[in-house]
Amino acid sequence: MDLKALIRDIPDFPKQGIVFRDITTLLSDAEGLRYTIDTLKEKCLSANLSPDYIVGMESRGFLFGAPLAYQLNAGFVPVRKPGKLPAAVHKVEYELEYGTDSLEIHQDALEDHHNVLIVDDLMATGGTAKATAELLEKIGCNVLGFAFIIELKALEGRKKLPDVPIITLIEY
Ligand code: 5GP
Repeated sequence: MDLKALIRDIPDFPKQGIVFRDITTLLSDAEGLRYTIDTLKEKCLSANLSPDYIVGMESRGFLFGAPLAYQLNAGFVPVRKPGKLPAAVHKVEYELEYGTDSLEIHQDALEDHHNVLIVDDLMATGGTAKATAELLEKIGCNVLGFAFIIELKALEGRKKLPDVPIITLIEY
């Protein structure tokens, strides 16, 4: 299936000069959504990735991470923007183009013996994925790999990430 055909390009969003890869058109396509989750599952199985938990980043990581967790018989743990999670959190700050942002995870969501797969819709600079891996390092759990629907190759986000399998379905 041509998944790229289901991604919509939005020029100048969120600012001038950026082409935003819009995954809402993929999500709303029943066959496209099923194919996406089934293909992620197959790629995980062929890479011998059988996580105890999938960690997905707010908010588009939730949309793909939770159904993949269901398919892999894994639990799902959200990583959220600051101030959203109700119980005690670990927090990590990371660099943006201008300034910094932070991400949080519940302190008691995972334990150090857990095997985790990190899932998001898109890898650009890799900063979000790297920050998420750092949150998991604080807990001490084992990052088995990463899975993204889309990779923006030119930004070389992979170089920021630990040396574990990185699954992607579409490249630009
Ligand atoms: P990074 O931290 O790798 O530079 O950026 C990745 C994060 O930004 C992901 O959480 C992703 O959802 C979001 N993001 C950045 N650009 C795009 C885009 O063009 N399309 C979508 N769907 N998400 C984007």
